[in-house]
Amino acid sequence: MSVLFVGSELFPYVKTGGLGDVMAALPRAIRAQGVDVRLLVPAYPSIHSAVDILGEAASFPDLMGGGPARILRAEAPGLPLYLLDQPTFFDRPGGPYGHPEDLATRFAALAWAAAHLGRVGDVDGWRPDVLHGHDWQTGLMPAYVAYGDGPRPATVMTIHNIAFQGRFQASILGDLWLPRHALTPEGVEFHGDICFLKAGLKLADRLTTVSPTYAQEIQHAGGHGLEGLLAHRKESLYGIINGIDKAVWNPAKDPNLVSRYDLKHPGRRLPNRPDFQRRMGLHEDPNAPLFAAVSRLDPLKGLDLVLDNVDHLVSSGAQLAVLGTGDPHAEGAFLQAAQRHPGRVAVFIGYDEALAHRVFSAADVFLVPSRQEPCGLTQLYAQAYGVLPLVRRTGGLADTVVGVSPETLADGTATGFTFDTANGLALGDAINRALALFRDPPAWRRVQRRGMARDFGWEGPARAYLDMYGTIPAKGV
Ligand code: ADP
Repeated sequence: MSVLFVGSELFPYVKTGGLGDVMAALPRAIRAQGVDVRLLVPAYPSIHSAVDILGEAASFPDLMGGGPARILRAEAPGLPLYLLDQPTFFDRPGGPYGHPEDLATRFAALAWAAAHLGRVGDVDGWRPDVLHGHDWQTGLMPAYVAYGDGPRPATVMTIHNIAFQGRFQASILGDLWLPRHALTPEGVEFHGDICFLKAGLKLADRLTTVSPTYAQEIQHAGGHGLEGLLAHRKESLYGIINGIDKAVWNPAKDPNLVSRYDLKHPGRRLPNRPDFQRRMGLHEDPNAPLFAAVSRLDPLKGLDLVLDNVDHLVSSGAQLAVLGTGDPHAEGAFLQAAQRHPGRVAVFIGYDEALAHRVFSAADVFLVPSRQEPCGLTQLYAQAYGVLPLVRRTGGLADTVVGVSPETLADGTATGFTFDTANGLALGDAINRALALFRDPPAWRRVQRRGMARDFGWEGPARAYLDMYGTIPAKGV
């Protein structure tokens, strides 16, 4: 079997969130099970300059009005790539989602190029059996397959976050190289607009999302308008939890830590804490419970609930470290909190991969109070690194953290703390439960060890994706 993954991010070259991590790790895990998975991503300069370019797979005098384009064959470590090299669209500053004036056409170009590889193949005759698109940027890919000529590869759409849908005015239909009859509710139309994600969810053979609980939520209140369509397609919708890349997120091998550790050597975790406190400007207090968050500052991430609890944390003797960027209002509020509580609250506004690794090696409790969380990766990193996650019970957070309770403490399954209601009081209550357990070190260590012993690798999820591919009936081409 052969599969082409298509998406707009790829760690470590282009990443704004979990999508980039998944695009790097999942195809490698599926390849390890003997499937020929390759990737198509835009030739952003950060990718183009970092990977080995092997040759040209296809070329076009113009693609979606963006001028000449080529598909290049390339190779990242352990991963065959195709790069969509179209300088007007992809070789410029501004990040993957800047330049709103051509957001629709440039990702339509990516989706069209993917469909081309699926229908025609590359110069060497490689043609994938399955086109597997990720998020709205690739939503038109099943439409180009459905409305195009030639062989029809199977199509799969994965939703990493349904809040982002790629909605544009219907008047641009012609710019997207779609026929007029695509603009119907059976095709790409959604409430009078063109909706890329909706097109993919309507037309792909199989749909997946990144946790079983999120797969349920998006058929109901969490569907951001697409719940009806998803409920209608529930037989084709799979919830498969993400894994973590153990080559990157492993405290025994992490080059970012001053001291590496594992389950057998938990004491080696300790030196990371004063180092982190020093770097962040926190008092080097060995006894203060250290709460932390690493997150995009977006209302859906619920960090406002943490802001509601800053004073409560400090007055309870805890420390708080926040690493994040996004909403300017939230950035300002966290910076003010740090000013109010020097040495006890530290805030880094920005994106810093190495510092994120150090957070996990130093903190005691990791806060993920999301209003919605399709899967979430940080609560998995937290458990692998011996931090107890404190999460709102939604989406993948509900599927991956077992909350402390008398029963889960007794049967040894607890790995963190959970709360349900999205408000500061409910988070405060969960914080109190965390503080109470912190005062019982043997119990704390049992929960910590349970989290560190869990296997969040990609092998299991990769097998689930293979099973899902296996359910797609063969096409008569
Ligand atoms: P989302 O994709 O919604 O942002 P996930 O939990 O799935 O949420 O993935 C977030 C990823 O981004 C994690 O790898 C996390 O460590 C990383 N991350 C988020 N904010 C920052 C930051 N400010 N600095 C470094 N890494 C960050």
